[in-house]
Amino acid sequence: MTDASPPAPRQLLRFRESVMETPSVRTFRFDPPGGGFQWQAGQNLVMTIPGLEDPRGPTRPFTISSSPTEEGVVAVSTLIRDSPFKRHLAGMAPGDTVENEAIEGEFVLEPGRPAVMLAGGIGVTPFRSMLRFAVDTRLEKPLVLVYSSKTPEDIVFRSELENFSRRNHAIRVIHTITRPEEAKEPWEGRRGRIDSELIREAMRGVRHPLVYVAGPPGFVSEARRLIDEDLHISKEDLRTDEFEGY
Ligand SMILES: Cc1cc2nc3c(=O)[nH]c(=O)nc-3n(C[C@H](O)[C@H](O)[C@H](O)COP(=O)(O)OP(=O)(O)OC[C@H]3O[C@@H](n4cnc5c(N)ncnc54)[C@H](O)[C@@H]3O)c2cc1C
Repeated sequence: MTDASPPAPRQLLRFRESVMETPSVRTFRFDPPGGGFQWQAGQNLVMTIPGLEDPRGPTRPFTISSSPTEEGVVAVSTLIRDSPFKRHLAGMAPGDTVENEAIEGEFVLEPGRPAVMLAGGIGVTPFRSMLRFAVDTRLEKPLVLVYSSKTPEDIVFRSELENFSRRNHAIRVIHTITRPEEAKEPWEGRRGRIDSELIREAMRGVRHPLVYVAGPPGFVSEARRLIDEDLHISKEDLRTDEFEGY
């Protein structure tokens, strides 16, 4: 017996439309491939643009920002930068296709458990999927999202997140803004980076939560340091998702 099982066939994702979430983040919606497409809230796909010439190659992992409960759509939300990969994405016309090589990741919602979710910037994508799932399936365990953005204008899914907490009272969203001086709109809310005090506040009244952290590697390592040094959360209760490439 060998373990040389053939690689899973690549699946075609047909581009449908895109929407600007913020001046720099765009959501791309695709039709799911025929033959079934299953994932858990929080997982990522592995997107390839065949034939693309890009110094970093034609493949990027992206969290699926839609929820498995949103039938008939697969969405990814990404920071638009000037790489050939992102230029290609931004220039797609409806009907164009990209390939999905795999669904990956253990950064998934455990529906039976309360959770505290720490998001840095574009790291909010898995939490949009998880919270939408919690709304659609009427989960009742507390879910607290602490979301750090540079300015209010950079808050991705802002009105959807508000809507989620209105529709499901187990969901609470706490925003913090790290560069209020660059904001175009006045910001009366919380300022500064996520620190131990804010995480403690988010955890208050939430019994034995899973703690999720997602964002650029610098954000994840800083959150992990706070959690290790100041908060007594065991490794089994911590899940992290590093968005390498930022
Ligand atoms: C598990 C996982 C999930 C992810 N989910 C998401 C997601 O939901 N959304 C998402 O957007 N990304 C996600 N990423 C990151 C994604 O895979 C890409 O790495 C990222 O989007 C960057 O791709 P790019 O083509 O813009 O840059 P690349 O061409 O890949 O360049 C990456 C590197 O180039 C440098 N660089 C390139 N352009 C710039 C610039 N304009 N300014 C500064 N530095 C620059 C940076 O040093 C960076 O490290 C995820 C990654 C992982 C591992």
